[in-house]
Amino acid sequence: MGQLEVVGMKVPYNYLPEQFSDPETFFRLWEPLIRSGEFTLGPYVEAFEEKFADFVGSRHCISTNNGTDALILGLKALGIGAGDEVITATNSFYASAGAIAAVGADPVFADVDDRYQIDLASIEQVMSDRVRAIMPVHWAGASPEMAGIVAFADTHDLAVIEDACMGIGGSVDGRHPGTFGAIGAFSMHPLKTVNVMGDGGMVVTDDDDLADWMRKYRNHGMTDRDHIEMWGVNMRLQPLQAVVASHFLDQLPEVLRSRQQNAELLDTGLAPLSPRVVTPARVHNSAETYSLYIVQVDNRDDLITHLHHQGVDAKIHYPIPLHLQVAASSTRRPAATLPCAEKQASRIVTIPVHEYLNRDQVQHIIGSISDFYGPKT
Ligand SMILES: *Cc1c(COP(=O)(O)O)cnc(C)c1O
Repeated sequence: MGQLEVVGMKVPYNYLPEQFSDPETFFRLWEPLIRSGEFTLGPYVEAFEEKFADFVGSRHCISTNNGTDALILGLKALGIGAGDEVITATNSFYASAGAIAAVGADPVFADVDDRYQIDLASIEQVMSDRVRAIMPVHWAGASPEMAGIVAFADTHDLAVIEDACMGIGGSVDGRHPGTFGAIGAFSMHPLKTVNVMGDGGMVVTDDDDLADWMRKYRNHGMTDRDHIEMWGVNMRLQPLQAVVASHFLDQLPEVLRSRQQNAELLDTGLAPLSPRVVTPARVHNSAETYSLYIVQVDNRDDLITHLHHQGVDAKIHYPIPLHLQVAASSTRRPAATLPCAEKQASRIVTIPVHEYLNRDQVQHIIGSISDFYGPKT
């Protein structure tokens, strides 16, 4: 924990300098790998894959370069390509839609509910006979109503590929995000709950054939050094990162405990400001990863300026929903109006909730927001 000054207390969003303040830890962890020379896949990557599959309760884990590759790998394994449509959430990060477009398919955007999760009613509204799959996003580290989405997909013979990039360590109805559909994709980008020192990702599946295909495609389609069964690519996770990932996976329960504590403090501390500040609704059937602590507020842009002056690093995830991005104008089907996401885009702000915040910093966030909205009337 950093020493706090009375004046000029800063609440940074980025915790990486603290997380990596002791490089020696990593040098020690890396030493056997470096001496082994196992730098393309190999035992360190396999060990991490087994550990992660075990952790989420899936039969197979195939690691990748990053979360975007994980989504692309999953979509390709499901045979999704040109002429197909895939429904995803309009409030997601670019990569959900980008991965769909990367395999030649068209993203179709659905609206979200007041927990920022893809909304089944909206999925039903944007259905067409070109839709082949649904890509629900576990946005912010919370989860959509997976049971309903999976039931809908089954009825319409659609594949479900989950974007669980923010969901590592969460649970819904006792199951880990990413294990409801045929394939789940995860990211270990520096600001996810399990992160590496750069990029990393993985897919999980219970299906042996899909797993086999993805393992080969990720590594040039190789069955062995001299034979390829299909044209593939190189999407391999770096073994150096597999070692980092394995280390941080061990620490995840502790990380999530402190994020949850911070989120509870924020929930309670900000509750009196309702309805000018609306804290996230919590549901009892799920455990969240608190990847993003998003509130909806009046007068958002001025609040952010105020918070920055107070040394609180607030952000917006994201000010423009995917269906309103210029990139979306090239898709075949004109996007529907998605009123909830559009309204939220002008009201949302993300405040720091990470595990390196201490109590004083969390109180400083609450105090700064309370000051902005003035005394309770
Ligand atoms: C981070 C993220 C991605 C992309 O993962 P990368 O590892 O950065 O490629 C995709 N979808 C969501 C919801 C994410 O949060």
